Amino acid sequence: MIKTDTISIIVPCYNEETVLPSYYDEMTKIMEIMHDVTFELWFVDDGSSDQTLRLMKDLHKKDERCRFLSFSRNFGKEAAILAGLQHATGDFVAIMDADLQDPPSLLPQMYQTVTEKGYDSAAARRTTRKGEARIRSFCSKMFYKVANKISKTDIKDGARDYRLMNRKMVNAVLKLCEYNRFSKGIFSWIGFETKWIEYDNVERAAGETKWSMFSLFKYSLEGILGFSVAPLAWSSIFGLIFCLLSFVMILVIVIKTLIWGDPVGGWPSLACIIFFVSGVQLFSVGIVGQYLARTYLEAKKRPVYILKEDSDEERANHEKDH
Ligand code: UDP
Ligand code: MG
Repeated sequence: MIKTDTISIIVPCYNEETVLPSYYDEMTKIMEIMHDVTFELWFVDDGSSDQTLRLMKDLHKKDERCRFLSFSRNFGKEAAILAGLQHATGDFVAIMDADLQDPPSLLPQMYQTVTEKGYDSAAARRTTRKGEARIRSFCSKMFYKVANKISKTDIKDGARDYRLMNRKMVNAVLKLCEYNRFSKGIFSWIGFETKWIEYDNVERAAGETKWSMFSLFKYSLEGILGFSVAPLAWSSIFGLIFCLLSFVMILVIVIKTLIWGDPVGGWPSLACIIFFVSGVQLFSVGIVGQYLARTYLEAKKRPVYILKEDSDEERANHEKDH
């Protein structure tokens, strides 16, 4: 049979030794179902400190469709996605978590959507957040509300990074060479037609989530600051409002003093005003600082990730030895 399309699958992995074997088993089943497609699995080891890399090497030895990239330290999921996208050679590229929360069983449907229905990508969106901590769901919901209000880039609530894209879209993503990456925003910003495939939340097959509340907070800042400059406008609007307010207050005080004299008093209200206004000032300076910090990081033009080992190199060494 002539094999036509190649699908590259990118699997970012950070300390995933407990789920990697079951992920591979699940994927093998799907690859058998989709036997008319050639597969290439790119496992990206994001500086794991457990046996993840060794498992990847074993898979690479066992099955030559499995390839791996290994980072010199933990650079984050976004960096792992970028590394995968840069190395993938397929006509279609999918990004999938290793913990089976992105069900591989959706892949045939995604492939069909892209090849037969004329979409450029098919992305997964979970409609429920079953099994997730309440406070986490609430914060996520708030983030999507705020992000969508202030930014023109639409970021779908419940959207996962799990998606299958055609080559055109992958090339477009690769053209965005920013250092502070927020994939959900990037996929939306570049445009193209995306079909959303909805599914019920699936809990992690094993292991633990790598996201603490603090890292999620930092991630959401990336989403907001990376795709909108509205907070900068807010801080100047705040400034303007307070200027006007102080103008009115000065007038009131001058008139009051002229009419009723200047009895000492009113220090509590003064203290409140000082606290409030300096709070607003610090907040605004903080916003400006956040953008400045990002500009600084972009200006340094550091690589998003650094590779320590990869399967191509391993193969080359192996051939040299024999
Ligand atoms: N991940 C990564 N680097 C990190 C954190 C996470 O490559 O610094 C990977 C992780 O191995 C998993 C995926 O990103 O395959 C999603 O992570 P996780 O399941 O912890 O996030 P959640 O599903 O809870 O949002
Ligand atoms: Mg997960």
